[in-house]
Amino acid sequence: MNRRNFLGKSALTNLLAVGSVSSLFASGKPKEKNNYKNYRVAIEVDVLVCGGGCSGVVTAISAARHGAKVALIERLPSIGGMATNGLVNAWHTSDREKLVILGLVEESGQRLLKGNWVIKDLRNNHSHETYWFEPEGARIVWQQMLREAGVRTFCYLAVGEPIVEGNQVKGILADTKTGRKAFLGKIVIDCTGDGDIAANAGLPFSYGRESDELVQGMTMCFTLRGLDVPMMKTIPNDQLDQIMNKMEQLRKEGKMPPFNAGNTRALLRGAWGNFFPWNMCPVAGNPLDEEELTRLTEISREQILQYIDFWKKDVPGMETAKLDQTACSLGIRESRRVKGLNTLDKDMVLEAVKQPDAVGHGVWMLDIHDPKGSGYTTFTDQNTRTMLKAGTSYHIPLGIALNDRFHNLAVPCRAASTTHQALASFRVQSHLMVLSQGVGTCAAMALDANTTMDKVDIKELQKVLKADGVYLEDVPQKKFQ
Ligand SMILES: Cc1cc2nc3c(=O)[nH]c(=O)nc-3n(C[C@H](O)[C@H](O)[C@H](O)COP(=O)(O)OP(=O)(O)OC[C@H]3O[C@@H](n4cnc5c(N)ncnc54)[C@H](O)[C@@H]3O)c2cc1C
Repeated sequence: MNRRNFLGKSALTNLLAVGSVSSLFASGKPKEKNNYKNYRVAIEVDVLVCGGGCSGVVTAISAARHGAKVALIERLPSIGGMATNGLVNAWHTSDREKLVILGLVEESGQRLLKGNWVIKDLRNNHSHETYWFEPEGARIVWQQMLREAGVRTFCYLAVGEPIVEGNQVKGILADTKTGRKAFLGKIVIDCTGDGDIAANAGLPFSYGRESDELVQGMTMCFTLRGLDVPMMKTIPNDQLDQIMNKMEQLRKEGKMPPFNAGNTRALLRGAWGNFFPWNMCPVAGNPLDEEELTRLTEISREQILQYIDFWKKDVPGMETAKLDQTACSLGIRESRRVKGLNTLDKDMVLEAVKQPDAVGHGVWMLDIHDPKGSGYTTFTDQNTRTMLKAGTSYHIPLGIALNDRFHNLAVPCRAASTTHQALASFRVQSHLMVLSQGVGTCAAMALDANTTMDKVDIKELQKVLKADGVYLEDVPQKKFQ
């Protein structure tokens, strides 16, 4: 495996080349930052979780359920990250023969079912995807679960710089309505998706694929209304072929944004219908550059209108189609990958490798969305080079969230330690939630035992996770280093 850009050098080159914020990437050396004593302390907790996407929510709930005083900070008005504000609404929990992801994923899914928020429940089917849910439901279910667990949640608040003292990240600074304040935690968990805390504290990270250091393409998801779905389902195949050919011709002439033909064909055939997120408008760029992200977000929203104008005229059943909503956030699949004690690579995924420090299982394929933004992906149900064998799963190791410099900092979000290819599997929400449940529980156990997360007895942690309903089988005996 090529790990050449783990020291941040080539990542730096890449990001500067696309005009990014250079101060973010001076990684690799420990930094002493911010004498926080100059600032008012807003809160002081056991576990401070930064970022409230699926990983942050699950980390916070599991740490709090195990007795830790927990606070969660999220910059947007609602928790959920991509699952809610990105309209990304499928969980993959099956190895195509049985369910191998349970724990807090299954509990969240069951609560979504109970609240009538599940659109498709495929748990008895032979596909990886099991729960398709309404993003609004995840927002409500998770905020209830956080409240019940006693987590103090702060939305509308962006995490700023980490407070670094020696080999500890003591907390973060944040600009509140009443000035800059310190938010302190005995343990700090970086769930920003981008590894902002870890990178700004000086941990090394990688960025992009080995060949050209580009990250996976992004997608603006959206919902439509005004569709006559039964009519769309009866469009004759040859008519659909003509529609697709016309779209392709317009795309070649620069009059239609990019799209993935297979996916688009299924959507026009009425696969999802009204109010269900359409995952089809791709863009490429640097997700760590706010100005570029804003431009791409604006472009993608206008591109969606271009598709709709065409469909209204040419697709039976779409004459009265209207844009219902675009996602609040552009869908980001990949940015930094922070170097951990262990790094998940493609062979560990495809060969279903079992690990002594496992906290659960992963099932998804190496599904790489074209970093150049064509909308095409390596996703295929047939390709044995990118998929695990049906009935098998790989272990998700705790070590990909821990690091050798700051023993009170963990990164269980999509910025955990993986290669570009392995991230294409690991990034799905169910897998991040598995790691996050492991890390949240480990953090609480470390505090109880007055030790650090890397020193927690891994067998004890695995026992606790199983008692909490996590599926965890075939753990090898070898001692975790
Ligand atoms: C279009 C698209 C389709 C996908 N399809 C699927 C799919 O079908 N199934 C699936 O499971 N996964 C899918 N994924 C992947 C998956 O959705 C993401 O990898 C996953 O949601 C990432 O979770 P996270 O918690 O790591 O990060 P995020 O969900 O991005 O959450 C990070 C959170 O941190 C917050 N944050 C960031 N910086 C700060 C800061 N400085 N201060 C405070 N808060 C901050 C953000 O606002 C956000 O809420 C898809 C992704 C995309 C983009």
